[in-house]
Amino acid sequence: MPGKEELLKELEKEIEVDASLPLRESNLVFGEGNIDSEIMFIGEGPGFYEDRMKRPFVGRAGQLLDRLIAGIGWKREDVYITNILKRRPPGNRDPLPEEIEKYKPYLTRQIEIIAPKVIVALGRFAMNYFLPDAKITRDNGKIFRAGKVCVVPLFHPAAALRSTQVLNELTEEFSKLPQKIRECETLLLQPEEPRKEIKEQGGLF
Ligand code: URA
Repeated sequence: MPGKEELLKELEKEIEVDASLPLRESNLVFGEGNIDSEIMFIGEGPGFYEDRMKRPFVGRAGQLLDRLIAGIGWKREDVYITNILKRRPPGNRDPLPEEIEKYKPYLTRQIEIIAPKVIVALGRFAMNYFLPDAKITRDNGKIFRAGKVCVVPLFHPAAALRSTQVLNELTEEFSKLPQKIRECETLLLQPEEPRKEIKEQGGLF
C-alpha cells in the first residue's frame, strides 16, 4: 500500500494536470510540512510571494504565522500548512464559491491522507469551509468537532497585520493551541452524536 508521501505526490500531480480547475494561470502551491503532524493549518489561498515561491505562507502573513508557531515552542517544519485554494486568485481577491468547490475534492483527500487531529482554520474562508454558520469574531479559538477531526478557527494572520486588536486576540488564542489539542484528543475519544455532524464543544449551537 502506498505511503502518505506517495499519495500526496500523486494528489499533487493530479491537481497539476486537472485542466478543469480554475486559476491555472498561477502556480500550484500544494502545501508543505510534516505529513505525520497532528496539526494542519489551512489558509485561504496563495498570495503573491506564495505564488512566486510555490510555498504556502511565506509572505508577511506567513512570517507572522512563523513567529506565532515559534512563540509556543513549535517549529514550522513540525506542522503541515496548506490552503483551500491551491492557486492564487488574481490580485489576491477573495476566493469565489465556485473556486472553493472545485478545489474541495483535492483538499478533502489531502486532509484524509495527512489525517490530522486538529485543523487550524486561518480566517473566515477557511473557517466557513468547515463551519458554514460560524462567525470569526464570535467563534475564533473555539473547538469544533467535524467527524474524526477537530476544527479550531483563528483569525487570519493577514488580518492581524492590519489590526492590533486582532493581533492580540490571535496571539492569545494561538498560545492556547497546545491545550486545545489536548482538549481535542479527549473530545475525539467520545462517540460522535448521531445526526449532528459538527458539534461545538460547550454547546453554543
Ligand atoms: N494567505 C493565505 O491564506 N495563504 C497563504 O499561503 C498566504 C497568505
